[in-house]
Amino acid sequence: MSPMEKSGLYYPNKFGMITIKALEEVMGKNGLNAILNLSGLTHYIDNYPPDNLEKQFDFSELSGIGIALEEMYGPRGGRGLALRAGRATFADALKNFGALAGVGDMAFKVLPLQAKLRIGLPAMARIFSQISDQHSTVEEKENEFIYTIHKCPVCWGRHDVDKPVCFIATGLLQEGLKWVSGGNEFRVNESLCHALGDDVCEFIIQKEPIS
Ligand SMILES: [Zn+2]
Repeated sequence: MSPMEKSGLYYPNKFGMITIKALEEVMGKNGLNAILNLSGLTHYIDNYPPDNLEKQFDFSELSGIGIALEEMYGPRGGRGLALRAGRATFADALKNFGALAGVGDMAFKVLPLQAKLRIGLPAMARIFSQISDQHSTVEEKENEFIYTIHKCPVCWGRHDVDKPVCFIATGLLQEGLKWVSGGNEFRVNESLCHALGDDVCEFIIQKEPIS
């Protein structure tokens, strides 16, 4: 597989580092190295992006990793690993970002569930909008939240798909919701995907938890 054309849009290095470490946690060092080889990201083998907020991790690098996961493990296996990697990405580090720091406070913990979601989800979106080129927004409906990624790194440059493919983002949202809610699992479905020709990537989050 040849490396995908660069997007010129970036995550901070720290997000790239967190994602690669999460992949290593989920699939082991050898699995990670195979994925980095397959996605043309050999420069990251034993040399993770630095732990800083400089915007240098190109969106195409994340979508390349998603493609490599599917090529190596098949659509089903790749999807499972991408979901787990997304969850690990949040669990390992994103919860420590400023906009979400207050979620651990007692004053937040005693809020009703829906108030937690109403505060926590936009806070997650804000982290991405503020420190990366991934602009994200949240809209509240009667029974669900609509989480929209306006420029999505997960499917950057992809067209050859017949279903939404942004599983790393879905996993990240699932784990973020679990943490914000204090332990609940929520249904998250990607309803629009840029790789399918839609303008944005959109995720429907049911307000009522499934567990
Ligand atoms: Zn996407």
